Amino acid sequence: MKISEIGEKQLIKKIAQIVATAPSSLGVLGIGDDAAVNVVTPGSLLVTTKDMLVEDIHFLRSALSPADLGYKSLAVNFSDIAAMAAMPRCVFVALALPKDTTVEYVLEFYRGMKQLADRYGAVICGGDTVGTPGPLIISVTVQGEADRDALLLRNGASPGDLLCTTGPLGASAAGLALLTGKIPCDEEMRRQALQAHIRPEPRLDEAAFLSASGHVTAAMDLSDGLLRDITEICEQSGCGALLRESQIPVHPAAVCVAEEKGADPLDLALSGGEDYELLLTVNPEGFHSLSDTYRNRFGQPLYLLGEMTASPGIVMFTKEGKRESLTFKGFQHF
Ligand SMILES: [Mg+2]
Repeated sequence: MKISEIGEKQLIKKIAQIVATAPSSLGVLGIGDDAAVNVVTPGSLLVTTKDMLVEDIHFLRSALSPADLGYKSLAVNFSDIAAMAAMPRCVFVALALPKDTTVEYVLEFYRGMKQLADRYGAVICGGDTVGTPGPLIISVTVQGEADRDALLLRNGASPGDLLCTTGPLGASAAGLALLTGKIPCDEEMRRQALQAHIRPEPRLDEAAFLSASGHVTAAMDLSDGLLRDITEICEQSGCGALLRESQIPVHPAAVCVAEEKGADPLDLALSGGEDYELLLTVNPEGFHSLSDTYRNRFGQPLYLLGEMTASPGIVMFTKEGKRESLTFKGFQHF
């Protein structure tokens, strides 16, 4: 059944049934009134992020199931909340829906989204739906809470701080390549790449753990590709960065896909984007103990990429021992 056959009011009723949640300590008044009402934990900071995804720019409707699209639309926002070392609480969703969209498509979208929201105790509190003659547009706002002392920002890095990430890079870009082209690839690698691209895991628990250690000086999430994102931390902190090529954790799926395409796997890791891992700077005194306790807690290492420098710009020590200046080659909207 098309959304135009049941109208906005009925569609919202059906959405409300899916996202309905038991009254919680948040004191949430969600969908149904003129505005949502939430209680903010006394003493915490309200952290808000918003992301907009446009069909054919950020996603291909034919390549993702509606549930995956719902999950991913929320995951990219949760990743920004994680980057601040906050926890997500309230989710607001605005959809511009092409008229021929089916009701089931919209409901599946919300089911996928709720799956992730439930895992972190966040509530889908409201939003808006409109019809459009254009492409499907998804705008998600997430409000989270953070302790004042726990907040992680981009501007706290100093020269000498170690630069690290919570996971290998390039898998999502490999997943996108696999979705959009016929590329032979090992089955397990294909699974991991598609998982990274379609259902990225926001590093919320990891960020809370890392922030509590007191050793992290700056953080952000990797959405636009390592090179472009490092630039953000460098600019905001007034530093440069030195990367060691031999230490860049290129995901094996990126190696697999790049080889088939005749591309350099390192390019996928540096500029592929949508990794949704955390990029952190850590004071060098604390790094080894932090990396040990992190591995014990999450069963994954912190991947050391290099260090922050006093001189501006991003430099890489190549495997051949050369010093190369790097510039970002990733996607730009404008
Ligand atoms: Mg971000």
